[in-house]
Amino acid sequence: MTVLDTQTRTTKPVGMSDAEWQARLELAACYRIFDHLGWVEMVFNHITVRVPGEDGHLLINPFGLMYDEVTASNLVKIDLDGNILSDSDWPINEAGLLIHSVIHANRPDAHCIMHTHTTAGTGVACLRGGLDPDNFYAAQLHDMVAYHNFEGVTVDPEEKPRLVANLGERNLMVLRNHGLLALGPTLPAAFSALWTLQRACEIQLAAQSSGQPLTPVTLEAAVRSTKESFQMGDRTQAGRTLFTALRRRIDRIAPDYAV
Ligand SMILES: [Zn+2]
Repeated sequence: MTVLDTQTRTTKPVGMSDAEWQARLELAACYRIFDHLGWVEMVFNHITVRVPGEDGHLLINPFGLMYDEVTASNLVKIDLDGNILSDSDWPINEAGLLIHSVIHANRPDAHCIMHTHTTAGTGVACLRGGLDPDNFYAAQLHDMVAYHNFEGVTVDPEEKPRLVANLGERNLMVLRNHGLLALGPTLPAAFSALWTLQRACEIQLAAQSSGQPLTPVTLEAAVRSTKESFQMGDRTQAGRTLFTALRRRIDRIAPDYAV
């Protein structure tokens, strides 16, 4: 068994739908983008997407691989209970899947769910006041971020209803003392939302580390920024330009994601 095929697979595997192969390519590229950006936590954390046309089926990273080893063909197809449905040399992280599976099950609009433990994201998640509104990116997230209190390492099924209730209809959540979560009707939409939140966290910590008082963003400016940033145009197109540009970079620097 090898981690990565040395034979580049330029066409989808026999018997796989074109829609699934395209979803695998997009998701594998996303794992490489996260790696490129440093949004990685060793072999932990997950990005999941639904398999188009297959109700209740998800794609997830194999447990044990770094993000720069994830490829379109080694992504694992599972159901919402974590049963593996595709041929895989690797297991999945069932504990890590809990957050993703319960949200996919309860949010039909969640095509894609991303969860990170970045230093900036987890750092802000540890602050009593959470996300501060006083920077360019946080101002675009007014009333868009949910919070969920820390109960442990998210392996207890009894936490599921509280996760779902605290998320509500929002697409971003700060898991207090833990990390960040984003979802979207498309992978690029989830990515652009998470990128905005990640940048807000990075800038908040940089500004707060100065020890100087921050210049407040007015409520009016935050409301307007959020409206202009997220409510314009077709939401399904959100993030598409950004993600496509990053995927071109991955095509240049890590084209083996597509095997
Ligand atoms: Zn986590």
